[in-house]
Amino acid sequence: MEFQFTQKQIDFRNEVLNFLKTELPSDWPDRMKYWPGGYGSMELNEDPEMVRTAIAFKNKLAEKGWLTISWPKEYGGKQYSYMEQAIYEDLIMYYKAPGMGIATGIAGPSILHFGTEENKKDWIPPIARGEINLWLGYSEPDAGSDLAAMRTTAIEDGDDYIINGQKIWSSAAHLSDYAWLAAKTDPDAKPHKGMSMFIVDNKSPGVTIRPLINILGSHSFNEVFFDNVRVPKRNLIGQKNMGFYYLMLALDFERLMVGIGAFAKMLEELIAYVKTAQRDGRPLSENVQVRQQIAYLATRLEVAYKFFWRTADMLDKGQQPSVEASALKLICTELSRKMADMSMEIMGPYGQLTGPSPWTPIRGMIPKGYLDCISATVGAGSSEIQRNIVAQRGLGLPRK
Ligand SMILES: Cc1cc2nc3c(=O)[nH]c(=O)nc-3n(C[C@H](O)[C@H](O)[C@H](O)COP(=O)(O)OP(=O)(O)OC[C@H]3O[C@@H](n4cnc5c(N)ncnc54)[C@H](O)[C@@H]3O)c2cc1C
Repeated sequence: MEFQFTQKQIDFRNEVLNFLKTELPSDWPDRMKYWPGGYGSMELNEDPEMVRTAIAFKNKLAEKGWLTISWPKEYGGKQYSYMEQAIYEDLIMYYKAPGMGIATGIAGPSILHFGTEENKKDWIPPIARGEINLWLGYSEPDAGSDLAAMRTTAIEDGDDYIINGQKIWSSAAHLSDYAWLAAKTDPDAKPHKGMSMFIVDNKSPGVTIRPLINILGSHSFNEVFFDNVRVPKRNLIGQKNMGFYYLMLALDFERLMVGIGAFAKMLEELIAYVKTAQRDGRPLSENVQVRQQIAYLATRLEVAYKFFWRTADMLDKGQQPSVEASALKLICTELSRKMADMSMEIMGPYGQLTGPSPWTPIRGMIPKGYLDCISATVGAGSSEIQRNIVAQRGLGLPRK
């Protein structure tokens, strides 16, 4: 067991750090009001200047090969270790920089694992170049935790599949190019046996995307309807009817993308706040309850980091961190809620301020986080589902 980075990893960390400091506008982290673990922060998409900066920055990451750090060189990657990828992701999220997404974090690695050679030829190069964005088409009105209950079908017809059905809670579908879609290719088979994965062009005739407005009043997710949508057979990913197993692997990849650096940044800001703010004429940092709360958050974050580095280490050793990915997701998203709750308690009424005022703490982040953190423990599988996975896959307890 080794609890420190190698010199090569330290050098790489410094390289990423310098890049972020040089290439991102210095006020970028402050302008991004993303709450750690939350989904709802969509200001980026409403500010054209930030969108331009984000695209330019992402292009530079693609040129450096950092969007696909751990991928094999033959697929446009750097072939660095997963530990180096984790170091990169930690810093990217600390700076709330563009550079992690569904295409490179979920769809790409999944295709590399179970895609056909034709799939890899079609999809890996544009993903590695950062040219295409995907949304996740899993959940349906009657299938969330229990994805095997999904009803969307993809039925073979000549050279195509014809897709019919509805997806819901489709984050950023309106901003993406393609769906990474799960559908039933054999609706009569046992629930886990008749599902397949597809990539579907959002522009296909018969795709309708309707906005759903979230608790923050932002348009972050959608409901998406598929009405006789024709998809070429070569857009089937991997083998027909193996989709449920592919989906489970893709969910493991998603649960590793916890954005841990954003938690570290938020905790730093909270500590800086309690060191300067006063209550009843005394520094907040002297308040017993405040100190207890800050210490609680710091120790939970340390536990999360241990799981984060461990999952990277397991991947480097050729192991698939499935239980560990669920545990990491569980710890981080529960921390997201605790951080918002405790921030609100620590700041009292000031924590409710959002507007530009000298009394508003941490750029008005707290009320937003208080609402946004609710989504953290639901998206990518709820906390209950993560605990079920730890109990069943990790501890060998029976399903019921
Ligand atoms: C912000 C956000 C973004 C999302 N983005 C996407 C996306 O891009 N694409 C996508 O496909 N989906 C997305 N989702 C959907 C998300 O994956 C589902 O909401 C989630 O899996 C839960 O499913 P459900 O909403 O149908 O709730 P249900 O499955 O109906 O669950 C309701 C409650 O019952 C509990 N429960 C259910 N089954 C069990 C069980 N076996 N044991 C114990 N408790 C259980 C759950 O924990 C939950 O508390 C998003 C959700 C959110 C909140």
